[in-house]
Amino acid sequence: MNPAAFAYERAETLDDALRLLGDHGFDGKVVAGGQSLLPLMKLRLARPELLIDIGRLGALRGVHELPDGRLGIGALTTYADLLDSVLVLQLALMADAVPHIADVQVRNRGTIGGSIAHADPAGDVPALLLALGAEVVARSAARGERSIAIEEFFLGPFATALEPDELLTEIRMPAPSGASGSAYQRLAQQASGFAIAGVAVVVGQTGGSSADGPVDDVRVAVTGVGDTPYRATAVEAALEGTTLDRPSIDAAAARITDGVAVQSDIHADRDYRSAMAGVMARRALQSARERLFEEPSPGRVESGG
Ligand SMILES: Cc1cc2nc3c(=O)[nH]c(=O)nc-3n(C[C@H](O)[C@H](O)[C@H](O)COP(=O)(O)OP(=O)(O)OC[C@H]3O[C@@H](n4cnc5c(N)ncnc54)[C@H](O)[C@@H]3O)c2cc1C
Repeated sequence: MNPAAFAYERAETLDDALRLLGDHGFDGKVVAGGQSLLPLMKLRLARPELLIDIGRLGALRGVHELPDGRLGIGALTTYADLLDSVLVLQLALMADAVPHIADVQVRNRGTIGGSIAHADPAGDVPALLLALGAEVVARSAARGERSIAIEEFFLGPFATALEPDELLTEIRMPAPSGASGSAYQRLAQQASGFAIAGVAVVVGQTGGSSADGPVDDVRVAVTGVGDTPYRATAVEAALEGTTLDRPSIDAAAARITDGVAVQSDIHADRDYRSAMAGVMARRALQSARERLFEEPSPGRVESGG
């Protein structure tokens, strides 16, 4: 099917893009890699009057270390760029996840900014960024720049905290402190590859790695299960202060859907999806634990100080 008629403008600069969004935010839409938006337009589930192409804004593409030690990832950084970045791949959960997102064509075009602005409830990147405690930077011509904590970014299925005139410009990850291990596990739906249940985990010891000592920083994020990606706070609370021993992990993982309305569809009913979320949580926690306590690298990240 062909999309409904639309006008097209290519932004040559960031200011250009912000001006176009300021003028047309309600009836126009930004296109980055086009991997989610164009299929929606072809199905006529999206009918923007104006497409604002930001694909050539090179300043929004790439991975760099910020002066305060955080990691900055430009909104137009593609999955393929992430796979080329040592800074990104040293985050073990990113190395687990990114090579398996979509296929090589989509990874060459799809961007990290597009992925989270699209806010698919089964998207992988939202769970990864929730577990990492990322921050989203948004910019508008009228109000300038603001930061949004990732926990406040996803408002519902395909809905985010971005205002219609705002462009997502960068994603920032906190600098590592202490020792940490991380992992991502998902059960993929066979036809589309999207997660039926995906669990991203970061476990840490803020005072530095002490073999088999207790963890004091646990972040667990889930995708594909609720109507939006979420932090599994009951699991986190159950694991803080433990050594991530097997019984603690098993008991905590059983709480992965606590307080969540688990989705049901033709691929997985509520019971199966809940059970698989528990399995993915156990596997991810076990793998993150091994990386924290047993592997010197690449899964374990230690701060310099
Ligand atoms: C065949 C296929 C398989 C896939 N498999 C997976 C998978 O396994 N896991 C997974 O997580 N995803 C998967 N995806 C989805 C894919 O990750 C996204 O399509 C892609 O990353 C979106 O990025 P994009 O740059 O193409 O966004 P676009 O399609 O260009 O835009 C998507 C949405 O975000 C908005 N947007 C884009 N950039 C910005 C910005 N900087 N500021 C504000 N708004 C913006 C657009 O207006 C639009 O609403 C798959 C997609 C396809 C086509």
